Amino acid sequence: MKASYAKPDGPIFDANEIHEDSPRKEGPWYCSTTGCTVQYKYHRIATYAVDEPGRVLRSGTFAHGEDRHHLPDCYMNEHALRQRIINDHAAVLVKDGDKLLLKWGRAPVKDAPSATPTVRRPRTTTTREAYAGILRAAADIARVVDDSDNDESVLARYWIIHHGIRYTWREFCYGPDGDDLHRIIDSIEGTYNPIAAPWPRLVRAIVSDPATSTDARVLLNLRAPTKRRNGDYVRLSLFAKPHTPVARQLLTFRSLEQVFVLADDWRAGSGRYGPSVWLNTPEQISAQ
Ligand SMILES: [Zn+2]
Repeated sequence: MKASYAKPDGPIFDANEIHEDSPRKEGPWYCSTTGCTVQYKYHRIATYAVDEPGRVLRSGTFAHGEDRHHLPDCYMNEHALRQRIINDHAAVLVKDGDKLLLKWGRAPVKDAPSATPTVRRPRTTTTREAYAGILRAAADIARVVDDSDNDESVLARYWIIHHGIRYTWREFCYGPDGDDLHRIIDSIEGTYNPIAAPWPRLVRAIVSDPATSTDARVLLNLRAPTKRRNGDYVRLSLFAKPHTPVARQLLTFRSLEQVFVLADDWRAGSGRYGPSVWLNTPEQISAQ
């Protein structure tokens, strides 16, 4: 999240650049959108997390003041943004108070009451049309979250309900930043179980090499556009059965092209492959 220091057209700072002992901390701070004069109360550090190199700042924000009337086209105008997203993606969104839920997949079917009730793994019945609508909405929301610099109040507004299970935006969306994409590895390894409920994950990455093809499969390798703090790239692999529409789609992507990939059956990495998934339909991947 960014804001102008001292006056509406003052120098713009990212909230993550302002440290606890900065003389600028108390502000005044203004919305950084040109022409928008909303004033924030002060700068506050929102979230720290413990990561490999130690304690790191996850996100910084500016505290809201009384005036929240951002310009209609300001990226911090939550009401206007929310309304546009609802209008553009009404078929796949459900309102829940001030939250928007991206919803697909039927809830699991419970067996008739018995001494040992079981929950069946829901069949993956996501249709091509559903994937297309969900992926368009998810890509749009990802851009809204980007524009807010991962502002926590924006992140808290978007949720996923998949087969009746609720996920936060961060449990659903990974990348493109290397460290952010790396979270998917822990997420999959922590939960992978062939009979567990499918977990929907949206990956944002770039194509590392053009797809290759054998009699058994078409393979497209992806990676994060940026290295992690430790110098590594996070890599992922997409597979498709040969001569299918999605295989032909994978063969069209060029190196460094940015993509969104949506699937609910990502598998943990093994051998020389990172986390991977077999795609069923071209609607599961789109260029950003
Ligand atoms: Zn504004």
